[in-house]
Amino acid sequence: MTAFRTLDDIGDVAGKRALVRVDLNVPMADGAVTDDTRLRAHVPTITELSDAGAKVLLLAHFGRPKGEYKPEFSLRPVVPALADVLGRDVKFMERPSGEAIADLADGSVVVIENTRYAPGEEKNDPGMAKVIAGFGDLYVNDAFSVSHRAHMSTEGLTHHLPSFAGRAMEAELKALEAALGNPEHPVAAVVGGAKVSTKLAVLEHLVTKVDHLIIGGGMANTFLAARGVDVGKSLCEHDLTDTAVAILEAADRAECTVHLPYDVVVAKEFAANPPTRTVNVHDVAADEMILDIGPAAVEALADVLKTCRTVVWNGPLGAFETPPFDAATVALAQTAAALTREGSLVSVAGGGDTVAALNHAGASEDFTFISTAGGAFLEWMEGKELPGVKALHQSA
Ligand code: ADP
Ligand code: MG
Repeated sequence: MTAFRTLDDIGDVAGKRALVRVDLNVPMADGAVTDDTRLRAHVPTITELSDAGAKVLLLAHFGRPKGEYKPEFSLRPVVPALADVLGRDVKFMERPSGEAIADLADGSVVVIENTRYAPGEEKNDPGMAKVIAGFGDLYVNDAFSVSHRAHMSTEGLTHHLPSFAGRAMEAELKALEAALGNPEHPVAAVVGGAKVSTKLAVLEHLVTKVDHLIIGGGMANTFLAARGVDVGKSLCEHDLTDTAVAILEAADRAECTVHLPYDVVVAKEFAANPPTRTVNVHDVAADEMILDIGPAAVEALADVLKTCRTVVWNGPLGAFETPPFDAATVALAQTAAALTREGSLVSVAGGGDTVAALNHAGASEDFTFISTAGGAFLEWMEGKELPGVKALHQSA
């Protein structure tokens, strides 16, 4: 299924210079990395190339220095954390030079300073791509999370060098293909989160792809309002009810069943453990707000998942950061996890808050794949072809 080349196709790399795009954009506090999840994702690719004798030259950005040198965006503080997760020495190069690279021992691993210090990176400047490509013999993209940007280090380099998907990229593309590209049906999509407006394109694409569209979270309120439900003080985009109706109609035409909650958990204030009521959606009082979907709805959704072979999930079903409004998200996540463990469901999820919610539910381990890519994951859910991924296809 893969139209792109992977490390399996790379041949003998001993002594070759491999320019490898990675995601080193990790959270830091007081000059130290506080979460090394992203670094660990790249260990297989870096280790494999280094063990095969390649000079591994890592290209990455850090933050948004906007094309200028600003010391707080240096990648230098990431080097010790990367050396830690790799269990091997990692060098740092402020400015790549042909001689410095020629002097490296085979198998060396080097972090090259923030690609975004140069204005040509985000502009995808062909001149910069040509210069940087001159420092390598081949290019590997291992950073799905930045591949929705057509930048020099994600797209430009593929025009100059033989290009390959790294192991993390390969795993991500395979998982996403199995979830929406060429999935086993029936497929369910769970879409939640605060607002319809941030996920319109996602919803529009999904109704053409999936058999069941499960809508929860704040965005369900807009759909309920579109169906004439009085949602009281709930978060609701009343100006988008026509759009919600259009999505429901498109779903109907595509024979996609849309599931909206029929019971909800409401409170008069948005705070931890306030007095709550579980009510039918038609019984929300004017001074109440919907903060989670109800237990009857969750049970019905669990039954839907039991009939499905694939689920793709983005967005929590309630205001999960504030108890008890995490209940529905936790319960349905645990159902999806159990079905995955039993082998009856392929489960793929992504999105910043979604990852946090699934971790909170203790469901992450059992999911088939969880994408930590934020923007790239959403653009993929919108059905867009990501420039960095497309470039790998074209150069294959
Ligand atoms: P992701 O980052 O996974 O894409 P979103 O950012 O779209 O997810 O949505 C997550 C946010 O939606 C959470 O902060 C959650 O509290 C909020 N949310 C979910 N349901 C509700 C609700 N009923 N009312 C208010 N906020 C909600
Ligand atoms: Mg979010």
